[in-house]
Amino acid sequence: MVYVKHESKQKTKAINTALNFCIAVFQLQKLNTVNNTTEKFKATAEFAAMMDNADTLKSFKQSFFFPQHKGNDVIYFCGNSLGLQPKSVPAAIETELKSWRELAVGGYFGGENPWLYYQDYVSPSMAKLIGAKNNEVTAMNTLTVNLHLLMQSFYKPTRQRFKIIMEAGAFPSDQYAVETLVKLNGFSPDETIIEISPREGEKLIHEEDILSAIKNNANELAMVMFGGMNYYTGQLFNMKSITEAAHAVGAIAGFDLAHVAGNVPLSLHDWDVDFAAWCTYKYLNAGPGATGGLFVHEKHAGNIDTPRLGGWWGNDEKTRFKMEKGFIPKPKASGWNISTSQVFNMVSLKASLALFDDAGIDNLRKKSVTLTNYLEFLLKQLSNISFEIITPENNDERGAQLSLFFKQDGRRIHDEMHNNGVIVDYREPGVIRVAPAPMYCSFADVYRFYEILKNFK
Ligand SMILES: *Cc1c(COP(=O)(O)O)cnc(C)c1O
Repeated sequence: MVYVKHESKQKTKAINTALNFCIAVFQLQKLNTVNNTTEKFKATAEFAAMMDNADTLKSFKQSFFFPQHKGNDVIYFCGNSLGLQPKSVPAAIETELKSWRELAVGGYFGGENPWLYYQDYVSPSMAKLIGAKNNEVTAMNTLTVNLHLLMQSFYKPTRQRFKIIMEAGAFPSDQYAVETLVKLNGFSPDETIIEISPREGEKLIHEEDILSAIKNNANELAMVMFGGMNYYTGQLFNMKSITEAAHAVGAIAGFDLAHVAGNVPLSLHDWDVDFAAWCTYKYLNAGPGATGGLFVHEKHAGNIDTPRLGGWWGNDEKTRFKMEKGFIPKPKASGWNISTSQVFNMVSLKASLALFDDAGIDNLRKKSVTLTNYLEFLLKQLSNISFEIITPENNDERGAQLSLFFKQDGRRIHDEMHNNGVIVDYREPGVIRVAPAPMYCSFADVYRFYEILKNFK
């Protein structure tokens, strides 16, 4: 750089850094605007560092505790299973311990966060993540329990219309929930549950196969209960078109968002989805067994006659403590609340959601698309090992996770990752799931994963 010849070396370096930063920002913007563009990516540590430099969300990594490996933070790609602990959590728990210690029963109405309304503190942030109105979202129980409760409200089988469509290979808990729901209603699972499978020899489900199954069962279909994203393949389903198709034949559409909430932004209200539930300990980092979230569309939630299993926490607050006969639900999703708010199971959720509010789900998604595309690009450079990426290639059909199927050595590669301080998970037969959560994973992390695979023997 001739024109800075007389400047000090330090200043030159600063200008170079600034220039590199601008180039990186420019490249990042370009990459973000093109779906699946990989031509600008480079398989070098320098390129990864440059991308991290330009990442406006990079500082969020510092907001989390990382498990240690040989004195260093691990690289954590398991946020689709259990998210990391935000550093704000211990103090947040101490706040509620203090209210309990100092106010005891007074904590319901006093203290920093009166417990009576605790579920309402986390709902608006979750509503933003899934594209809902605040009155359509609440937090209670855990995911499978909430699915059961919502299906009690929305599965109203008759002799004529009783069938349920779900994805084949759904998460086992969802399969058990639907199977037992059907039996509880006196139907036979074999005759009632229609599972949509990938076609012969394939691993992903064709959207048109879901839609045609809905049409083909038009007169007998009561409900579609699909995963928003399959936990194993990482396939993201088109909830808008599934909902439209279900409604067109007079069926209800509900979704399990365990792998979607905090991963891919949605528009549940506009898509007219009837109900949804999710857990908060995966991408939402709320800790093991944390309280789950649920969505009930306002057209049902606002109607206090929508059937449900009730309890006092769902009752109108004006009459709740009068302890009178007659359940009058709140005319919103929290009208499904049953028991006293599980304060300590929501403290971490509240702390974590504050980070989502700061980062913004659209910004996170933007970074996530680039980060996952970079991971995919790097994986495609590898020729020393043989594997297949079973997750869809299209960004509209996937989130942060890529599932890699290894015909051999899957277990050994998983162990090699752990020996190098990279946490991924392994599912028989031979699938390693890698989920670079944009909140705390970097381009350098993804590059390190590639480097270990490159050197694998
Ligand atoms: C993680 C997960 C669950 C777990 O349900 P819990 O009731 O929270 O234990 C259920 N369904 C799906 C699709 C999941 O990914």
